[in-house]
Amino acid sequence: MFYRLKTDFRLSIITLLGISAILGISPFAVMRFVQGNMLAGVVDLTIMLSISAGMVYAWITGDTARTGLAMAIVASAGAVTVGAVVGEPGLFWLFPCLVTSFFLTESRYAIFINLAAVVALMVHGVAFSSTIQMFSFSATAVVVSCCAYVFAFRNENQRERLEHLATIDPLTGVKNRRSMDEELAMAAASGARTGISYALVLLDIDHFKKINDEHGHGVGDHVLTDLVALIEQNIRKSDQLFRFGGEEFVLLMSGVDETGLRAVMHNLQHIMHRFLKHPGGGQVTASFGVALLKAGESPDDWLARADAALYEAKASGRDRIVYADDIVAEEPAAETA
Ligand code: GH3
Ligand code: MG
Ligand code: MG
Repeated sequence: MFYRLKTDFRLSIITLLGISAILGISPFAVMRFVQGNMLAGVVDLTIMLSISAGMVYAWITGDTARTGLAMAIVASAGAVTVGAVVGEPGLFWLFPCLVTSFFLTESRYAIFINLAAVVALMVHGVAFSSTIQMFSFSATAVVVSCCAYVFAFRNENQRERLEHLATIDPLTGVKNRRSMDEELAMAAASGARTGISYALVLLDIDHFKKINDEHGHGVGDHVLTDLVALIEQNIRKSDQLFRFGGEEFVLLMSGVDETGLRAVMHNLQHIMHRFLKHPGGGQVTASFGVALLKAGESPDDWLARADAALYEAKASGRDRIVYADDIVAEEPAAETA
């Protein structure tokens, strides 16, 4: 539970708003009913129940995008309604709404929600005791919204930057191993659920150390970026390439059958033979281990089969494609007495 609060910022804001709604609004709801102001009591109760229900829904479904938008609308509309029903108190409730809306939903929606709330209160006018108060309120509401926008914008920018750093390989620009683990898990789950076929290719450049040793590390880096560019030009948009580490890459393909897969791999190898050279002009080759996802197979087992196929490709001379299904399992050694 704390892990989810720590890692999902929007869920933590939804939770904060949910708990604040329960603790902050319920005494007012009780007070309104006791005072006999039924309408205000029902408004308070409705806001509190809607926000609490939103919080529970977000925790159960994980759908924080839609819940956040709904909560921002409900909270702001609630503050406006309180303003319309009981006057000034609605003004105070609107300020936390103006701030949290930028953290609950996208900025463009938050700007619209905030603007609509302020304009609605101004048009209705009941909440204000004077014109000066109305304009002071709108000016401060705009200032608060602008500050919240800037803060939310910076926060989102930094989150995106961090995510980029954590998931993208800086040299080649493709996703790294960490992203690969997630995508393989999703592919295995999707394969089991929908029956879509998935293929995994483990690719390792042959004698890459020799290229580094003979031509320098910079040339080695160039070969890696050239290889990535070449592969990306020759795969479908839905296929995904990851840097597994060093000079090893993983290609994840969906919706390919055995025959199609063999044609794709043959084409990829052909293209590499034609176009992948190091600056000294020498040929750069690679070995491939290929495995189609089996029914109910775990990502680890799937990767292990592709790895075994790659090992076989290396052991049998390099610059070749080996399919996991073609590897004949070795007979267990006969027991000796
Ligand atoms: P094999 O055919 O068996 O795969 O031999 P290999 O030389 O390709 O494999 P080995 O694992 O012995 O060497 C991999 C080399 O890749 C060693 C390491 O210095 C180099 N390497 C790893 N990451 C990078 C990188 O980012 N840039 C460069 N230039 N070299 C790298
Ligand atoms: Mg290698
Ligand atoms: Mg290697």
